[in-house]
Amino acid sequence: EAKRTGRSRHARFHGALEASARYRRLIETDLRAAIARRELGLHYQPIVRAEDGETVGYEALLRWHHPVRGPISPLDFIPVAEETGMIHEIGAFVLQEACREASGWASGRTVAVNLSPVQFRSTALAAQVAAALAASGLPAGRLELEITESVLLDASSNNLALLQQLKQLGARIALDDFGTGYSSLSYLCAFRFDKIKIDRSFIREICGSREALAVVQAITGLSRSLGIVTTAEGVESPEQADCLRGAGCTTLQGYLFGKPVPAGALPEREGAAVLLREA
Ligand code: C2E
Ligand code: MG
Ligand code: MG
Ligand code: MG
Repeated sequence: EAKRTGRSRHARFHGALEASARYRRLIETDLRAAIARRELGLHYQPIVRAEDGETVGYEALLRWHHPVRGPISPLDFIPVAEETGMIHEIGAFVLQEACREASGWASGRTVAVNLSPVQFRSTALAAQVAAALAASGLPAGRLELEITESVLLDASSNNLALLQQLKQLGARIALDDFGTGYSSLSYLCAFRFDKIKIDRSFIREICGSREALAVVQAITGLSRSLGIVTTAEGVESPEQADCLRGAGCTTLQGYLFGKPVPAGALPEREGAAVLLREA
């Protein structure tokens, strides 16, 4: 009986693998075309100050509108882009586009760009960032680069040196999805991050779980003593926002304050129009 269950489970697992391999091939083929056909674009989600809700910046999030399949999640196509190396071209596009759009924001707000750990395998990364800043005229201090701890996981790589180069360009460096990894705390000693983004999994539980609240309080307390700003990810309810404010979180991000939207839908454009009229 146990053997039969085991075999059928294996059969199902194999089927799912095959299906996912086929799906991946489809995504791979179409993604190559998508770059050329300009089907990729960025949406922007506000990041607000916890104390008064004032927008301080936006996170750029990549969107792919497939002509037949409709929207495809970055969670589905970024891994394919990473495996095939297309992430280098896509990453350069994201940097260029985010800097270009943010340079037109009259408010002077920051833009956060996600970097894949695979992008760190290219020695061209720092040059790509520098080129995006130069081409757009965006002051480096208004660019925030979000990395995950996997960038620092490989001690033998020169990723740390690359990260220092990015910081020397004047960009700010944020540690994304904090708390989900294996040894997150050790990375706070290895590199001087400007910001920690507390993973959504803690925020989801924060009102109902003393443990989640205690973890968030520990992260905000530690960050404060290190002089690091915190952002809570995935804030969906006013109750969560209250808890996070109480816990001393600096900035908040989530559907409560706004979903990711195209650049044209941001209030930043109006500000730019007013300035142009006055000039
Ligand atoms: P991330 O960097 O942690 O981005 C936050 C994700 O949470 C986004 O998902 C955002 O839409 C979603 N989110 C924001 N607020 C809420 C909320 O209140 N509730 C819930 N349920 N979700 C919320 P998205 O846009 O699907 O992106 C998923 C991941 O894909 C990102 O996670 C990031 O790791 C990756 N990604 C997105 N754009 C890029 C990119 O340009 N380059 C790279 N390398 N990765 C990207
Ligand atoms: Mg992010
Ligand atoms: Mg995140
Ligand atoms: Mg996340």
